[in-house]
Amino acid sequence: PRSVLVVGAGLAATQTAAALREQGFDGRLTVLGAEGVAPYDRPPLSKHLLDRPAPEWLSDEIGVDLSSLADETAYDEPARTLVVHDEGATVTTDRRELTVDVVVVATGARAVRPAGWDHALTLHTAADAAALRSRLVPGARLVVIGAGWIGGEVAGVAAAAGLDVTVVEAAPAPLAGPLGARIGALAARWYDEAGVRLVLGAQVAGVSADAVTLADGRRVPADVVLAAVGARPATAWVADALPRERDGSLRTDESFAVLGPDGPLPHVRAVGDVALRRSARHGWVPGGHWDGALHGPAEFAADLLRPGDRSPGDRAPYVFSTMLGHSLTLFGLPAPDDEPLVLGDPAGPEGWSARWYRPGTDTVTAALTVDRPREVSSLRRLFAAPTLPALPRP
Ligand code: FAD
Repeated sequence: PRSVLVVGAGLAATQTAAALREQGFDGRLTVLGAEGVAPYDRPPLSKHLLDRPAPEWLSDEIGVDLSSLADETAYDEPARTLVVHDEGATVTTDRRELTVDVVVVATGARAVRPAGWDHALTLHTAADAAALRSRLVPGARLVVIGAGWIGGEVAGVAAAAGLDVTVVEAAPAPLAGPLGARIGALAARWYDEAGVRLVLGAQVAGVSADAVTLADGRRVPADVVLAAVGARPATAWVADALPRERDGSLRTDESFAVLGPDGPLPHVRAVGDVALRRSARHGWVPGGHWDGALHGPAEFAADLLRPGDRSPGDRAPYVFSTMLGHSLTLFGLPAPDDEPLVLGDPAGPEGWSARWYRPGTDTVTAALTVDRPREVSSLRRLFAAPTLPALPRP
């Protein structure tokens, strides 16, 4: 291609620009963003919400200077529509129309705020973090809705800073989405130990200025409410041009080419949180995690610049988190009917881990470590192999 337009100015966009240039792309590169600021890293927004001075969030940068890689960066010019044609694709903004050979959709995700929860804050951007932080004064009552990754992280830092924190979760366990209820339940004690009230199996019926009301009539008083109930790919702007999944994600092949009804579309790639990528080992891998946005772009840049030269890699999904005084890493993708097995003592001081087995086999689809930093590199090696690890069950 002679021209590439990257839409979105987050981690996946930055890494796309870096990978294209590193791999020899010398055509025109344009990047459009919507936040009005240069790309920054999101994981510290929750983990360091209360212990870092504000500008440092933004300087906790990605380590790549996007403006030196791209011919043009417009951080306050969101794409509004996409049209794909035979020779390339056209994106419109409020200011202009841009026709290029390849469009990379890297618009990330948007935090979900259910209808009627107008009094709840969400956390996805640095601006969200600044707004939330200004409300989290010691002694205030914070109610977090959702005991997932971000809910757990914010609850922990807020409790440590002297807030009165309650977490309300609809599932029977924290982290039940990514880990399943059986392994997720082992995290419930962390809330206890951190002094956070955890209310499980609780449907939220309403959010008002001073309380969260549950479906069973209970009322949880709140000075601040954070909705941490997930994020959805920010792809409304491509809806007329590309097939989208119900959650808004875009199905791609192994090289992040967006899949149309007749196979990969030649002029559109999708990477980072927007992509639902096909993987021989893991099935369909959703975005939503830092590592995918970090490493995905190098995978497709090679394919884009030298099609057919090399088959794409199949990097295992990898998620990290630090929450409530614990450090977690998850490799792979557990399926709902996989069989979890716990190794070590989840109540002990030495950390523990878990593995998920494909039913009736020795094939491990995913592995979690908690507070066992020395296991992380061996797991990384295991999950880097071309096939899923086979480990005899102990
Ligand atoms: P984003 O980072 O969302 O960037 C997309 C950008 O595109 C945004 O700036 C957006 O404004 C812009 N955009 C949207 N629409 C348009 C448009 N129409 N035109 C132009 N621009 C547009 N992952 C982990 O694995 N571990 C963690 O510990 C972890 N912690 C996190 C903590 C927080 C608070 C958050 C919010 C996320 C965390 N993540 C974590 C997830 C990780 O940050 C994301 O997976 C990663 O940022 C995805 O990168 P991205 O570039 O795809 O999307």
